[in-house]
Amino acid sequence: MFDARRTPIADTRAARRLPIADSRTAIRAQPRPATFDAIPTHIEDAAGRHVTYLRVSVTDRCDLACVYCMPKSGEDDHAVRTELLSFEEIARLVELFARSGVRRVRLTGGEPLVRRDLVRLVERIAMRHPEVALALTTNGTRLAELAAPLRAAGLRSVNVSIDTLDAPLFREITRGGELAPVLAGIHAAREAGLEVKLNTVLLGGINEHELVRLVDFAWSHEIVPRFIELMPLGEAASLPSATFVSAETALAPLADRLAEDVGRAGAGHGPARYRLARDGSGRRVGVITAVSDEFCAGCNRLRLTARGDLRPCLAAPDGLSLRDQLRAGASDLELAWHLHTVLRTKAAGHGFVDARRDEHTRVGMSLIGG
Ligand code: SAM
Ligand code: SF4
Repeated sequence: MFDARRTPIADTRAARRLPIADSRTAIRAQPRPATFDAIPTHIEDAAGRHVTYLRVSVTDRCDLACVYCMPKSGEDDHAVRTELLSFEEIARLVELFARSGVRRVRLTGGEPLVRRDLVRLVERIAMRHPEVALALTTNGTRLAELAAPLRAAGLRSVNVSIDTLDAPLFREITRGGELAPVLAGIHAAREAGLEVKLNTVLLGGINEHELVRLVDFAWSHEIVPRFIELMPLGEAASLPSATFVSAETALAPLADRLAEDVGRAGAGHGPARYRLARDGSGRRVGVITAVSDEFCAGCNRLRLTARGDLRPCLAAPDGLSLRDQLRAGASDLELAWHLHTVLRTKAAGHGFVDARRDEHTRVGMSLIGG
């Protein structure tokens, strides 16, 4: 059981919280050269990685405060309403990305379902871009009421984050959250016809003993469970080192039930690798080995923060404000050029284990968009 006295969760934000607005200035918009005269229909970075996937954060706020994501007293750098991208601005940028070959858009946050009228944004994107698979990552607290309207609006799939099936432990990890509404949300999503996956962050000494139970729960509802290695971003960077556990170690108790790694082929659009059940049922468990087995060489994604910063990578120290460009009246061609400027800065790897790099420890996942 997680014991906050044995595993102190330091509230260190004053010491290392980097205002996101400062980091944004690092990538400067370049004037568009005359030779860049059409919006490219596919986008590739300097390493030849083809970008087809955009994660869009719609808010940096959340109704939970998971110990590895949010400081105890909340972030102190939340965007005010006028700093957030409006739905119209998000829709215009999604349009640009779709024209440039993006085929999957995931709405995230913070908690995306705390943004009012999110269903309206889903509807708008889905109607204009049937070629784009629209997905959502959520903590599930509001999914019970929103699953059906989201499905009707055109959402195809949802990843629900759930780190334990034990209600008291859930309360501790999320600093006060209730498990029951999340379970109700998962059931509502299945009933609404959404494809559902579960995301569990591996927390050494905290939820390792829950993994078998989580797999059984997911499989009994025909849901794919996925386990994510804790990344040293923001709050997580100050957790005790024993909290970081590799997927291989954490999944050892399932060794007799899981067959070989079937890799990423045909399994999805993200960085998860999958292992099949030995019983021949075709059921799977996903692992996202962000730390133990860096998968950056195959990265196909970009991130747009709630404030409209386009970030080349979760671990990147900076981004470029597409919001400021939009509000300054940039044309689609100019915006496409800025997209290229950012792509050129996409690093080969996240550098989480490089002791010389610590930029990623300064800004938490909820501010960037997880
Ligand atoms: N609030 C939504 C949720 O919890 O699903 C969406 C945003 S949240 C930042 C997206 C995902 O990032 C969640 O599955 C969460 O568990 C995960 N996450 C947050 N901080 C993380 C970290 N340091 N390492 C790995 N995963 C993390
Ligand atoms: Fe909120 Fe998601 Fe971060 Fe938990 S992981 S605090 S639910 S944004």
